[in-house]
Amino acid sequence: MYRSHSCGELRASDINKEITLSGWVQKTRDKGFMIWVDLRDRYGITQLIFDEQRTPKDVVEKAKTLGREFVIQVTGTVIERESKNKNIPTGEIEILVSKLTILNEALVPPFTIEDETDGGEDIRMKYRYLDIRRNPVKNSLMFRHQVAMKVRNYLSQEDFIEIETPYLIKSTPEGARDFVVPSRMNEGQFYALPQSPQTFKQLLMVGGMDKYFQIVKCFRDEDLRADRQPEFTQIDCEMAFVEQEDILTIFEGLTRHLLRDIKNVEIADFPRMTYAEAMKTYGNDKPDIRFGMKFGELNNVAQHKEFNVFNQAELVVGIAVPGGASYTRKEIDKLIDWVKRPQVGALGMVYVKCNEDGTFKSSVDKFYDQEDLANWAKATGAKAGDLICVLSGQTNKVRAQLSALRMELAERLGLRNPEEFAPLWVVDFPLLEWDEETERYHAMHHPFTSPKPEDIALLDSKPGDVRANAYDLVLNGNEIGGGSIRIHDKETQALMFDHLGFTPEEAKAQFGFLMDAFQYGAPPHGGIAFGFDRLVAILGGQETIRDYIAFPKNNSGRDVMIDAPANIDQEQLKELNIKLDL
Ligand code: ASP
Repeated sequence: MYRSHSCGELRASDINKEITLSGWVQKTRDKGFMIWVDLRDRYGITQLIFDEQRTPKDVVEKAKTLGREFVIQVTGTVIERESKNKNIPTGEIEILVSKLTILNEALVPPFTIEDETDGGEDIRMKYRYLDIRRNPVKNSLMFRHQVAMKVRNYLSQEDFIEIETPYLIKSTPEGARDFVVPSRMNEGQFYALPQSPQTFKQLLMVGGMDKYFQIVKCFRDEDLRADRQPEFTQIDCEMAFVEQEDILTIFEGLTRHLLRDIKNVEIADFPRMTYAEAMKTYGNDKPDIRFGMKFGELNNVAQHKEFNVFNQAELVVGIAVPGGASYTRKEIDKLIDWVKRPQVGALGMVYVKCNEDGTFKSSVDKFYDQEDLANWAKATGAKAGDLICVLSGQTNKVRAQLSALRMELAERLGLRNPEEFAPLWVVDFPLLEWDEETERYHAMHHPFTSPKPEDIALLDSKPGDVRANAYDLVLNGNEIGGGSIRIHDKETQALMFDHLGFTPEEAKAQFGFLMDAFQYGAPPHGGIAFGFDRLVAILGGQETIRDYIAFPKNNSGRDVMIDAPANIDQEQLKELNIKLDL
């Protein structure tokens, strides 16, 4: 038996017990006549004491050889500790050791295994198994498990069943590139790893499973933005015989449950906002509604003077920054530089100070009088003491720029409190999205999303105006879930593929199986998928998902610990009949 107790378990009530513990040496303190060792496992830390008077000599000698991270087993007696440590649950006791076994020695770790480590990100990724021994990472993984359990319990209670779907499949378009896997047995052919289980979960509905979920890995080969992983986890769900409303209700329930259970937060209001409204009011389809600074469109009150920059703009729009009237000239110049950074891309920024005495001072006083500026203040909801920041230009671009500024200012003003939770549904997404690069329409969500029946007539004349039965769940400025009601008949699906530029042959080759299935009694169905890594990170009070993934990849998609991706040998390539022309 390696242990009778864990290192987090023993208390004053265990004093005088004979016990055995196993774990890692966190720290040793050698005072010559006395040696203390902090022994650590997943459950906590227990102090061991080796004492020349009371511990056998050979055991003391062996204790002197212990190094950091050695794996040891000790047997001894629980005794009362002289100087108690109120900070840890085992702080009232220590173990007077009578027997010590070194189970495994350890090299000196490349960074300290402590909450505040001296190791940088790269070294910790390379030795992730050591990083996992540290509390912050260990606790994040344990937290992730808890969230997963709560999700499973909730959905099981709601009659969902977890079903695994295959990883070696054919492309499921979610807007990214596929990772592909060559097939040895089918020369020249490839599997694709799922970007999501989308088509399979729909087939499960055709199969009558009614309510499906799966906590599942998805794979997307996209250029990695900060905090994206090429493989990530979704809570993937699908339901039959449902309308949008049914799905929103169930998953609003799940979200409330998680926030209540994990964060002790009761969500009173679960607002819904159309995509059009979100874009107009926040310039963003995943608005952070924990704070105001709503967009005020100013075309009507800013395009009647000689200021050409505004007159030529498709959209003139501003936000009121609380307390911003007190910014110095230098601070405002810095803000202007910030919006002009290539990442944001604005050409400039007009500002208005709303003075405490009710007057206004703007960077465009030459063109606009006090009455004009008062109208701007009204449109943006600016009060005395605020600063109005105004951007102008092409609608989509300006909205994105002002949204970036809004988020940045909120961050600086401390308005993004991680302990406050403001979820909302964004609904009525456009079905199609114009892609400048390929000069054609793409499915905004995916090609299986159903258009709103009343908008189908617009598919030919105004494809960009067709709305979908698609929705996103947004939490604190992050999209944490997204889904849609699906097309469930062959004709509409064929129509959709046609509008996405697939020839009937291409559609059949790629998705024939789904269209075929639709001919055998497909029920109306719909679903949603949550980004599990992000959800866990937000509930855990952080915005970086990497901390919640046991073995994450770095920003270039590499696993630096196992050193992947890697070359494969000639033999393997030959078996796969792949010739590399490097
Ligand atoms: N498969 C979709 C996604 O990965 C989610 C859904 O429509 O249910 O975003």
